[in-house]
Amino acid sequence: MVVKVDSYPLQAELGEKSRSPRWAVAIKFPPRQATTLVEDIVPQVGRTGVITPVAHLRPVEVSGVMVSRATLHNWEEMEKKDIRIGDTVVVERAGDVIPAVVKVLTDKRDGSERQLLIPAVCPACGSEVVKIPDEVAVRCLGLSCPAQIRESIIHFASRHAMDIDGLGEKYIEQLLRLELVRSVADLYTLTRDDFMRFERMGEKLAENLLAAIEESKRRELSRFIFALGIRHVGEHTAKLLASAFGSIRNLEQASEEELMTIREVGPQVAQSIVTFFRNRTNIEVIERLLAAGVAPSVQEKKVGGRFTGKTFVFTGALTRFTREEAKLLVEAEGGHAAGSVSKKTDYVVAGAEAGSKLDKARQLGVTVLSEDEFLELMRG
Ligand SMILES: [Zn+2]
Repeated sequence: MVVKVDSYPLQAELGEKSRSPRWAVAIKFPPRQATTLVEDIVPQVGRTGVITPVAHLRPVEVSGVMVSRATLHNWEEMEKKDIRIGDTVVVERAGDVIPAVVKVLTDKRDGSERQLLIPAVCPACGSEVVKIPDEVAVRCLGLSCPAQIRESIIHFASRHAMDIDGLGEKYIEQLLRLELVRSVADLYTLTRDDFMRFERMGEKLAENLLAAIEESKRRELSRFIFALGIRHVGEHTAKLLASAFGSIRNLEQASEEELMTIREVGPQVAQSIVTFFRNRTNIEVIERLLAAGVAPSVQEKKVGGRFTGKTFVFTGALTRFTREEAKLLVEAEGGHAAGSVSKKTDYVVAGAEAGSKLDKARQLGVTVLSEDEFLELMRG
């Protein structure tokens, strides 16, 4: 069930997150739960160096699926819920998908339970671990941390990123173990002989892997941006960036201000992107990828109508179409209809008796169109 705010002005005021509006909330059935034992808690290093505690559970069935691991998300959460090794806990599949530990059954404790402390050094590379202010995350800052490299290569090759068919976790681990790969750029210098060093590798399979790597050179720009693994840049944001900047070089040069002219890109995301491209190691990897022949294509989108990336605000009494129709017209051409006027508004379409929104548009220097002018613009 979706609960939403009805009023358009309030919707506009509440705004949107990257993927969903703040004025609508999905209400779901309560998740299924089960009770089990925490056999161990292990610090796990992710792609961006964030170290998270992961509970290894005695396998238990939750709504038809065997659950044996649950991320505890972060150390604060683990401490707040006071989850210890040896605890009996209630687990559920949140949204019936990701397993989570809900609470500890403290009356089942016998005194043998052990707490896991935040590690002082990275369990994968031994680098110093840093707690970043304003973030609950604990992070390994090791530039050559094998756990981060492993995760970043897995992410790079994954289906929604560069989609290198067949190059899964097992092969990536072998590449790392044989020291054939140190960064994603090394994937494009691999040879058949390299793959033939793997256990149980045939010529045909090696050829297929090389062909899949070769094919990935022409992925869409949005996939390439997503594959780089920039913090806070998911698939959706990557698409927005690709269509706004058109090339990786343009994106590299973008300032925070320029990035924030994109609807849905806020200060946190903008800052993360700028920080990523300021890192010399990242630029070197990108340069090597491009030199190896990776040429991300700019998608010629079918959705790319004449209003792509443009924001319209309709105000006043409209006679040629209803507000809902106007919205659909704009969206059909790849644009967006907003409820209020801001610096990000490209056009205000004003009917009769337009009031404060029209004033604001004039103040901000936003182009104001009559209904007829709008229709003309749409017909090109
Ligand atoms: Zn590390």
